[in-house]
Amino acid sequence: MNIPYGRQDISQEDIESVIGILRSDFLTQGPVIPAFEEKIKSLTTSKFCLAMNSATSALHLSCAALGVGSGDWVWTSPISFVASSNCALYLGAKVDFVDIDPATFNMCPKRLEEKLKTAEREGKLPKVVIPVHFGGQSCDMRAIASLAKKYNFAVVEDASHAIGGRYLDSPIGCGEFSDITVFSFHPVKIVTTGEGGACLTNNENLAHKIELLRSHGITRDGQKMKRASHGPWYYEQIALGWNYRLTDIQAALGLSQLEKLGLFVEKRNRLARKYDEEINNEFVSKPVIKSDCYSAYHLYVLQVDFTKTVTDQKEFFEYMRSEGIGVNLHYMPIYLQPYYEELGFQKNHCPLAENYYSQAVSIPLFSSMTEKQQNFVIEKVNAISGK
Ligand SMILES: *Cc1c(COP(=O)(O)O)cnc(C)c1O
Repeated sequence: MNIPYGRQDISQEDIESVIGILRSDFLTQGPVIPAFEEKIKSLTTSKFCLAMNSATSALHLSCAALGVGSGDWVWTSPISFVASSNCALYLGAKVDFVDIDPATFNMCPKRLEEKLKTAEREGKLPKVVIPVHFGGQSCDMRAIASLAKKYNFAVVEDASHAIGGRYLDSPIGCGEFSDITVFSFHPVKIVTTGEGGACLTNNENLAHKIELLRSHGITRDGQKMKRASHGPWYYEQIALGWNYRLTDIQAALGLSQLEKLGLFVEKRNRLARKYDEEINNEFVSKPVIKSDCYSAYHLYVLQVDFTKTVTDQKEFFEYMRSEGIGVNLHYMPIYLQPYYEELGFQKNHCPLAENYYSQAVSIPLFSSMTEKQQNFVIEKVNAISGK
């Protein structure tokens, strides 16, 4: 058997949508991008959506639009993909990490508050905090939003794992508790465009900034121009932006995929429930979903007490992979990456995140997973034995 930890789910309709674009007038900058953005807006109730070529780009432009620059602090969770903090480094800002809640693996609001109190005394309060909805489960956004008000920082939700998830009965991306929400459409995520991402916001000013920065800082809108138009060819560059555009080919795939978002997330929840019910091993803890969350279940992460088991973490991963089970580890704390160690981070910075890392195993979870595949994974996990 060969069972990846995650994979895309592409239908005949998806393929035909893409072929349709290849035969059309526009491969990029055509009508499908706004249609894709409209669809995301209607699914999330967000006022503005800007599609982009990756979530990494979307995080970068979120920070840029919020005015992050050198001398500013940006905080995020250590248990995330490196893009969650690299986005601040691109802009010359400094980054720091808030330790996790060991039950949900999300940024812990209590530890955030303690860190804010210290930072306030030292004059090092963050300009932006980026909570990450780990595995598809929302962070405690109500608590984080109230701290944002008190300590005056902006919030960017890294919801790369979480499109289709819900928090307090609202869709993730609704923007009630943050300034900007970011989605990823990488093939391992819930829905895909090959590569892709999006920024969602209810703030018109931020939306306009992001839109400008997505395409070189160029505008064709007479209202925004500095000078009178020279003629119909005329455009102006009024800021320094990038080319972070999505193509219509990708947007067509995304639009077709979004038709199945609800089904994909339901399927992932059904698979997770089966894992919840059928994994039974004294050395293994299963993920905890809070009652105010509906997880999009990008990941299903076990915590295994490898101090008590026959095989250690490395041997267990090697064994599972030799059996064709694509176990993975999401993630080593970002600040333990060599690049971050060179910035001065040291071990023990976030002890709970490091403890998490020593026990974590992501087991396969994807919408097209078969019962036979899942039973095989369950059998192997239940067979983990003690010393
Ligand atoms: C995947 C991911 C990203 C980056 O997404 P891309 O679309 O690949 O750039 C950022 N943050 C988190 C938490 C992710 O999982």
